[in-house]
Amino acid sequence: MALKADIGAMVLDAGFVRVRILAPFDPVVDPHTPIPESYQTGAPSLLIAALPYGNLQDPVPLAAGGAYIAPFAQRNYYREGVKRLQNLGSVFRTHYGGRKSDFRILCNSPVPEKPLARAAGLGVLGRNGLIITPEAGSLVIIAAMTLPFPLEQDKAEPELNPDNPFPWCGNCDPICPPCVASCPTGAVRGDGSLELTRCIQWYASGHGAAVPQEIARHWGKRLYGCTDCQDACVYNQLPIRGISSDEGPLPAYLDPVELGTLSNEELKARFKGTAMGLSWLGPEGIRRNARLAAQSL
Ligand code: SF4
Ligand code: SF4
Repeated sequence: MALKADIGAMVLDAGFVRVRILAPFDPVVDPHTPIPESYQTGAPSLLIAALPYGNLQDPVPLAAGGAYIAPFAQRNYYREGVKRLQNLGSVFRTHYGGRKSDFRILCNSPVPEKPLARAAGLGVLGRNGLIITPEAGSLVIIAAMTLPFPLEQDKAEPELNPDNPFPWCGNCDPICPPCVASCPTGAVRGDGSLELTRCIQWYASGHGAAVPQEIARHWGKRLYGCTDCQDACVYNQLPIRGISSDEGPLPAYLDPVELGTLSNEELKARFKGTAMGLSWLGPEGIRRNARLAAQSL
């Protein structure tokens, strides 16, 4: 128990707002968002933690100049989370033993982070399909690290209840809550899932062969990042302090017309190490976003 408390304290000291432990888990632990049976770390414990990016940046109105990059992408918070967990892994190794490979980091990977976060009590699922934490709403990135020693498992809080899958959404209108009403394309179903082929952020991340006209007309000046369904959520409207990071800084606005003139190599160099430099977006995806944003300038 002392070991678990010490580890938890170190994770919080490293800037994470919440940390939980999962033992090797039962794939059916959460029937609402089941954990795929194929996913097993093989480790005695899995540490799962939330790193806040918050909302205390200066508000940037969509009407200002250029194409807009959402706050969550103005730094590479995934890289920041990995860096912080790597440092923690090295401290844990020194204190408690184990090999470097025992401290495997899972962040922005195919890991089913929502079911894991729910099962461990890191947060609850919102009707908008996002994990909401008590400390920082859904303005967090979720990262995990395997541990080579057994620790007591944390449980969902409140206990998972199929009859009440959204325990913190009770004060919102269940038929048309703010997250549903705010989505410009009707992608938020309100049942904890999204209709991805209607989601601007899904296309902005490079998915979909083409952006349908009915989605494109709501694109606005977004170069990268739609956050309307997050911004509308009551849990994200309190002041939430984010960690500071110098990983992959991007400005709030870029000129989409200029981006459209850059070669693949120039685009890769421009966004290397940033949240827009991730392999699944690629130069073609950035050019497509820029083209759509430029139509609203
Ligand atoms: S990211 Fe934007 S388009 Fe996608 S579900 Fe949220 S509000 Fe709708
Ligand atoms: S806006 Fe309301 S219903 Fe939607 S996720 Fe937030 S709390 Fe839940």
